[in-house]
Amino acid sequence: MDFFQKLGNTLSNTGKDIAKKTKDMSDISKLNHEITKQQEAIAKTYSQIGKFYFENYSELDYPELKEFCNSIKEANQKIEDFKAEIIQIKGIINCPNCKAEVSTTAAFCGSCGYKLKEETENSEVAEEPSESTDSNEE
Ligand SMILES: [Zn+2]
Repeated sequence: MDFFQKLGNTLSNTGKDIAKKTKDMSDISKLNHEITKQQEAIAKTYSQIGKFYFENYSELDYPELKEFCNSIKEANQKIEDFKAEIIQIKGIINCPNCKAEVSTTAAFCGSCGYKLKEETENSEVAEEPSESTDSNEE
């Protein structure tokens, strides 16, 4: 009898301990989650500050910041290059007007008739300067 009572007490104490530990763990994980949320908010704000600076003040003479701005410019340039590469591989672009897929060689969108030639001339780096001031051959 005594043994079973002791055992019972031990088990219920252990049960309470486990319950408390479980609650502690879930409280801690909730708090850690809140910390992560705040850290993400800070990171987002840092990024907004950076973007604001980049868009408005990147030409100011802060040498340290200028390096950051240049690395963003380089990354943007790389993104454009990679996008151009994807377009070359796919052989199609999306019409800037109606978003229809059109061949990179098309001068006009087959869907809406939007003039594409100027767009491709801008993005492609000097493939063939085609200023037709003299005569129209071809
Ligand atoms: Zn179109």
